[in-house]
This record gives sequence, structure tokens and C-alpha cells, in this order.
Amino acid sequence: MQNLLDLDLPGLVAFFESLGEKPFRARQVMHWLHQYGADDFAQMTDLAKSLRAKLPEVSEIRPPLLHQEQVSDDGTRKWLLEVGPQNRVETVFIPEAERGTLCVSTQVGCALECAFCSTGRQGFNRNLSVAEIIGQLWWANKAMGRDPKGDRLISNVVLMGMGEPLLNYDNTVTAVSLMLDDHAYGLSRRRVTISTSGIVPAMDRLREQMPVALAVSLHAPNDALRDQLVPINRKYPLKALMPACQRYIQDGPRDFITFEYVMLDGINDRPEHAEQLLQLTRDVNCKFNLIPFNPFPNSGFQRSSSETVRRFASQLMAGGKIATTRKTRGGDIDAACGQLAGQVQDKSRRVSHRIDKFMGAA
Ligand code: SAH
Ligand code: SF4
Repeated sequence: MQNLLDLDLPGLVAFFESLGEKPFRARQVMHWLHQYGADDFAQMTDLAKSLRAKLPEVSEIRPPLLHQEQVSDDGTRKWLLEVGPQNRVETVFIPEAERGTLCVSTQVGCALECAFCSTGRQGFNRNLSVAEIIGQLWWANKAMGRDPKGDRLISNVVLMGMGEPLLNYDNTVTAVSLMLDDHAYGLSRRRVTISTSGIVPAMDRLREQMPVALAVSLHAPNDALRDQLVPINRKYPLKALMPACQRYIQDGPRDFITFEYVMLDGINDRPEHAEQLLQLTRDVNCKFNLIPFNPFPNSGFQRSSSETVRRFASQLMAGGKIATTRKTRGGDIDAACGQLAGQVQDKSRRVSHRIDKFMGAA
């Protein structure tokens, strides 16, 4: 049974061809699936009756099951989606004055074990399918509807939920192609951002195949500290990551990389770290997005004080960089960055992190 939510336009065209149907059926069905959020072939009134009768025999429209929806005091919403027995992932909608951003997950858990990340703590179960990734946007659009002008409330998508998108490369890219397709969600490449911990070969592939805005989780200005905080750095160290960032922006949709930097009290937030960051990124057109650490039980870390964050940002700006500080949203429903836990039936072997490993690494 083909789940039609697993297919982008070329996939749907091939599917309809295999049924002996004309390729334009693919676009028609795509409109129904993604623009109208149809979940029943009977709704697709512009298809021939015979085709409407045949489709349920060979295909299905199967989004992930919606388990729970929560709404924060500040308007942030979080959906918990079932993706198989004992596995759940989270999607978050963040409304702002001039845009509405959906934060989408790409894996059940994450294998990369960044020390300060709740998803990483839970281990890795599996990659999400295309239907499970695009299904998050599908559900959220259904729930949010349109504004009075008829525009969708979700104007931006960030792949910053659970998981490392570039380690689920093919499904992520297919789902992103649906986000960009005018027959589906029609978002511009500048309004879809992939966040990566720095999987260098996949960054190069993405640049060629599906360039969208890129955010890189830097979090440390030198290898010794980054090896501890973002262990994938041992495989793709800064001397490989920085040139990959430079290559990416050469023909990316934006002419800068966003560096995410979680502010951890006493760990990576000192003036010498800001100074090293300026040195490290001297030749990279970039903006910094400082993220005050969002705590979770037994994390072992503390959030830098707002004064420290302010000073750190000023130091970067004095060095000629743009530095913004991410507002923490949805904290009351555990929807803030790095708090997404969902439910992960862990199948990986875990290495436990201990705080004393970090001492002296700076
Ligand atoms: N795996 C990808 C995308 C998901 S994480 C990546 O790492 O980029 C999205 C962002 O949230 C990353 O920058 C991540 O480092 C950050 N993050 C993780 N845990 C956090 C926490 N507890 N507080 C604040 N930010 C966190
Ligand atoms: Fe995975 Fe990103 Fe969390 Fe690191 S920060 S463990 S890469 S989800």
C-alpha cells in the first residue's frame, strides 16, 4: 500500500504513471493532500469517479497519529505525534508578530548525544519517514488554519526539532521538496531552515541538491570544548566545518550561515570564548543566534545569566558580527529548544556524560 504522503511531485508522477494515469493527476492529488489537507479520496471531486474508486485499493493517506496538543500561555503550540509503538515525536508552532514558525522533527531521538540536549539524552530509535516529517506540517496547518486574508499562519519551517536532519538525509530532502513545491506548501527557500550539528559531507550534498537556509549548531569556539559538547566534532572538526560553511553560502539562498550557540553557565560563555569565536569565524559571513540553555531534569548544566548573555552578544557585535538572542518560548509546556523529548524507545547503546569531563576543556 503506497502512502501518498511519502511522495513528492516526481514520486507522485511516477505513481500515477504506474496506474496508467496522466502525470497531471499528480498535481491535482498534491493540491488535495497538501493544500486542502484532504485525508479521504472521496473529497477529491475533480478526479474521475473510477480513479477515486481505484486509489483506496492501491494507496492510502496516512499521516502520523495525533496523540496530544498543548497550548502555552504565550500562544506556542506543541503537538505530540505517534510514530509507532512507544515512539512519539514533537512539533512546535511559534507565533510571532510578522511570522509563524513551525519547528519540525526528523528522527525519533538522536544518536549524536550532544551533552546539553534532552533529545540526545534519550538515544536513537529510527529515522522518520517522509510522511512522518511532512505530516507534521500537514497536521499543524490543519490545526492552525488561515488568517483572515486567506494566508497560511505557518510562514516558516525550521528543522530544529528532535533529531539530526542531515543524518536522515533522503527523507528530509524529499519532505523539504514538498515544503517548497508550489503545488504543496509553496514556502520559499529562505523560509525553510535546516539546523545541523555539522555533518560536513551532507552539507555539501544539500548545497547542490536542495539549498535552503542553513543553521549550524556551533556551541563552542575550539575543538577541545566542542568535542565534549557536540561529540560529532571529533569526526568533523572545526577545520572541516568552517570551510563547509563557506562553501554552502556561495550559492545558498541566503548569503550567511546562522551559528547557533547555546549559552551554558561557566562552560562556553566567557569573554575568551567570544574572542575565539570572532577569530574562528573571521572569514565566514555569519550571524550568531545565542540560545539561553533550556534546562531539563539532570542535565548537569545551568543557563548563563542574562547579563552574561548580553555581554557576550555585545562582544560579538563589537567584533563586527550580528548576534541575536533567542527568546525562550513555550517553556511552560516544555516546548523550548532542546526540551523536546517525545517518547523514544531507545535502541542505541548509551554513553553517559558527566559534567567533570567539561572542566578544563575550554
Ligand atoms: N540536530 C540538529 C537540530 C535539532 S536541535 C542540531 O543539533 O542542530 C536544535 C537546536 O537546539 C540546536 O542548535 C541544539 O544544539 C539546540 N539545543 C539542544 N538542546 C538545547 C537546550 N537544552 N537548550 C537550548 N538549546 C538546545
Ligand atoms: Fe542531536 Fe541536535 Fe540534540 Fe545534538 S543538539 S543531540 S545533534 S538533536
